[in-house]
Amino acid sequence: MPPERIYRTHAVVLRRHNIGEADRVLTLFTPTHGKVRAVAKGVRRLKSRLAGHVELFSRVDVLLAHGRSLDIVTQAEVRDPFLSLRDDLWKAAYASYVAELVDRFAEERHEGPESRVLFDVLVGALGFFDRLGMSPPPAADAPVVAVAPPAVADPAAAAGPVARLAARAVELKVLGALGYAPELHACVRCAVRLQPGENAISAGAGGVLCPGCARGDGSARPISVNAIKAMRLLRTEPFGVAGRLDLPERDMRDIEHALRAHLAVTLERSLRTTDVLDRLRAMLPRDHDDP
Ligand SMILES: [Zn+2]
Repeated sequence: MPPERIYRTHAVVLRRHNIGEADRVLTLFTPTHGKVRAVAKGVRRLKSRLAGHVELFSRVDVLLAHGRSLDIVTQAEVRDPFLSLRDDLWKAAYASYVAELVDRFAEERHEGPESRVLFDVLVGALGFFDRLGMSPPPAADAPVVAVAPPAVADPAAAAGPVARLAARAVELKVLGALGYAPELHACVRCAVRLQPGENAISAGAGGVLCPGCARGDGSARPISVNAIKAMRLLRTEPFGVAGRLDLPERDMRDIEHALRAHLAVTLERSLRTTDVLDRLRAMLPRDHDDP
């Protein structure tokens, strides 16, 4: 049976670039079809019905028509614009990083259940960075006052440790959604349950190593029990957990290094790794780099 010509789906706009006089090619991530590339025709014209509904990083509902190489956006309605991701440079950098990770790891037209999980990770991450530094809105049943206090924004929030940890959570959750997460509970070589001690982590091996196995792995790097525990929480808990962890700089760096290495090994199988990681690294602030 031929595929339906028209289909409706939720989507997040991961990338977009202009083509022709007034068109744009969008890279969308959808929970039902994985990554989809689609043309928004005439979207750069002032009177376009699509204009404003397919902005970068926004969550949208779209009606798509199957095309020969690219699909065609026939309708779009923005559901969550995640406005501050485009207004704040730090947030924009993190949103770009999230979109890039999903873009690189996601397959085109993949209808497996991973796409749904990955979509939820993507929306959760963008929503978290969008709201980062904003005071929570008043509860719906809060007493009505003459003038509601405005949301207080902390402009430094997205440059701080919470955003840094949330980015690690994104990495762990994206890897986890696709079955590539590092092993964080038992030694990847001998399967013994990890005990507090001189444990290590190795991207090549795929996760943590007990002290005995670590000695035989030249690429393994020591990692503290607290860093391992933090990674477990970032992997499984909602993004808000990033705001409740207080880690010393050393553990932050060890986690960053371990995940960067793990991403590189995972991507290496099919992608132009160095190119991708160099670009990702260039997007992150300087103190994320190795000394
Ligand atoms: Zn072991």
